[in-house]
Amino acid sequence: MINKIWELIHKNDTVIFFDIDGTLTSYNYGEYHAHHELDFTPEFREVNIYADCRRLEPIYNFIKGHDMDRIFCISREPHGHEDWKSEMVERLYGIPADHCYYTLDASEKPQIVKGVVSRLFPDISPKSVVCIDDNDETLGMYMKETPFCTAHPMLFMEYSENRG
Ligand SMILES: [Mg+2]
Repeated sequence: MINKIWELIHKNDTVIFFDIDGTLTSYNYGEYHAHHELDFTPEFREVNIYADCRRLEPIYNFIKGHDMDRIFCISREPHGHEDWKSEMVERLYGIPADHCYYTLDASEKPQIVKGVVSRLFPDISPKSVVCIDDNDETLGMYMKETPFCTAHPMLFMEYSENRG
């Protein structure tokens, strides 16, 4: 039996909001620890950790088959790295910079997504919007504060077929 969320993200009119760190990237930014900051790299704030990110093929394969007008990013960014992140998602996935939304506080994500949906897709069914995030707390906030579907990015690991 195929997963219902997997089916929903493949419908043509579904609007999708991807988290960035840990969703469109693997979050393995460091040399010994997953997060650069944990490597005690003093220059962390000045290092473009997004320059070396690799495309996650199962997610890329999905995105290139979907209407780009219905693909967005929503990311918490407390370090002023918005431009680096936007450059990375455009380079790896073709998602335009003006499809990327940023917030200092992850708890604002549900309201930001609601705002974008009501502005750009005023007539869409809430059942045609999917929020994909690797953070359990954030998924819980979407569930509590919005009517939208939620998904964890491991979905792509689970269901993508290797066509190589
Ligand atoms: Mg994340």
